[in-house]
Amino acid sequence: MSRTIEIDNTVTVGNLAELVDVPVTQIISELFKSGVLATVNERIDFDTATIVLQELELDVELKKRSSDNLNSPASRKKNPSTGEARPPVVAMMGHVDHGKTSLLDYICKASTASEEAGGITQHISAYQVKRKDRMITFLDTPGHEAFAAIREHGAKLTDLVVIVIAADDGIKPQTLEAIRFANQAGVKILVAINKIDKEGANVERIYQQLSDQNILVEKWGGDTVAVEVSAKTGVGVDDLLDMILLVSDVEELKAEVDVPATGLIIEAHLEKGRGSVAIALVESGYLKKGDYIVAGAVYAKIRNLENTLGGDIEKAGPSTPVLITGFKSLPDFGDTFEVVKSEKQARQRSEEVSRDRKLSGQSLNISSSELIRIIDRKNEINELNVIVKADVQGSLTAVLDSIKTLETSDVAVKLVGSGIGNITERDEHLAATSGALIYGFNVNVSTSIRQLANRDNVSVRTFKIIYELIDDVKKEMIEIIPPEIVKDDIGRLIVRGIFKIGKNEVICGGEVTKGKLVVGSRARLVRDDVEVADMEVSKLQQGPQEVKEVLEGNMCGVSFATDSRVEVQEGDKLEFYTVKVVKKQL
Ligand code: GDP
Repeated sequence: MSRTIEIDNTVTVGNLAELVDVPVTQIISELFKSGVLATVNERIDFDTATIVLQELELDVELKKRSSDNLNSPASRKKNPSTGEARPPVVAMMGHVDHGKTSLLDYICKASTASEEAGGITQHISAYQVKRKDRMITFLDTPGHEAFAAIREHGAKLTDLVVIVIAADDGIKPQTLEAIRFANQAGVKILVAINKIDKEGANVERIYQQLSDQNILVEKWGGDTVAVEVSAKTGVGVDDLLDMILLVSDVEELKAEVDVPATGLIIEAHLEKGRGSVAIALVESGYLKKGDYIVAGAVYAKIRNLENTLGGDIEKAGPSTPVLITGFKSLPDFGDTFEVVKSEKQARQRSEEVSRDRKLSGQSLNISSSELIRIIDRKNEINELNVIVKADVQGSLTAVLDSIKTLETSDVAVKLVGSGIGNITERDEHLAATSGALIYGFNVNVSTSIRQLANRDNVSVRTFKIIYELIDDVKKEMIEIIPPEIVKDDIGRLIVRGIFKIGKNEVICGGEVTKGKLVVGSRARLVRDDVEVADMEVSKLQQGPQEVKEVLEGNMCGVSFATDSRVEVQEGDKLEFYTVKVVKKQL
């Protein structure tokens, strides 16, 4: 019989390991597999803990202890029975390259082009589009990890998940993962079968694959809505939007409006001239310009309130994504926000949260965009994993900004973590699990951290001068770019006579018509503009004399080493070239 264990809404990784009696490393590595980088003291939420235990196939059932935090915005009921109707919040999920971004782009362009001039100018993590005078909010959830991270903060962010499946590719691992996430979060699924314009599109096969996952589409007698679309031609996109509205009507989505506004931070970044900029999703109430808002450990008097098209607005109601400026520093992705009455209250609240977080050791931030980069960039380009710690926010920002500028299409820096303060055991552990280098700027490294780093082969480097740190990052980046092979054409020869054609050797004579020939170079044999063979020059002869090189305008004899028999003919052209292995620079 399975054991039942009660936990709170969240539990530290260490406690969970103790409760279920498995080594903590096992829990950490299971979390890591699903993209959650967590250490012993970090808190994971109830759902995440449940998933981990399932993955470990432990015979333990987790039960939630009665809520310890009933009045927090996160635990406030997302869909109350009273209140006003609100737009649905929809996330597109699915396997990479199945067309999530294209579909979202198409929807946004189609809906904004007709509504406003200019359209979307910048890429942000949420959009609102209009369909038949009704609004739909789309979240650009770039990685499932980001989605999971939001769930970790206790909020059920989306009302509906659109699972995007490419018709010519079918269900893939990330599709399954998306289905699992949606099911675990208890979110309604709608299927968009994309790329139906493509040859090889096989919709029936996908219905079959879905039914294997216990998702029966309406066509097959089930109750899951599936829409066939093409993000390329736009076919079916309107149907998809209609279906999203229809499915959300069934859910009767509502929100309280006569309450101080609350919601969730879904993105935060620094912008030149504007400082800390946050994208937030309002969940209840109306958010207004000039409001005092507390998001996690930071607060703001809202200076600018903008919609997702960049237009100034005075207020924003439930399910509306907005851009907010005015924060003293960056709020964290996944933080809940709420409006308070005064600056004093805002300051007090944020200080309380800050204190609590320090106590529970949340000094290292892994932002959504970093997580996304971890997922999206995997396998694509060469990446240097780093963790950066600095003494103050200003220098941290400077270091991170400078590192960003080093990135090229050949090599990127994956910021696994960053934070203010000395290098901690947690940083070291994160570096060990993710294979990252730790850079410290104006911070100290204790002997015990050095020892840990030695043990785990983690490189910890500290600097007091910013450009020295940047130079070091640069060196490391160059190191991981694979060398380039450069071929330089050096000369040409026309074959005038054949002396020998052997199994692995060709000796012929001819005239150097361009450049020069050099021993050790290679030659392409070109006949009728087609490359027939590629050989190495082993010997050059001018008259009876063996030489190292022959210049343009001279006759010579050439011996080639070959892999197989090459039938050189009179009149053939040979193009000589050298091969160099070049280390790319940034
Ligand atoms: P994501 O990784 O799921 O966001 O996928 P993308 O939106 O980046 O699309 C991956 C590739 O598929 C891109 O080259 C798109 O141009 C292409 N693509 C997306 N949707 C369609 C479609 O409906 N038809 C065709 N033919 N190509 C598509």
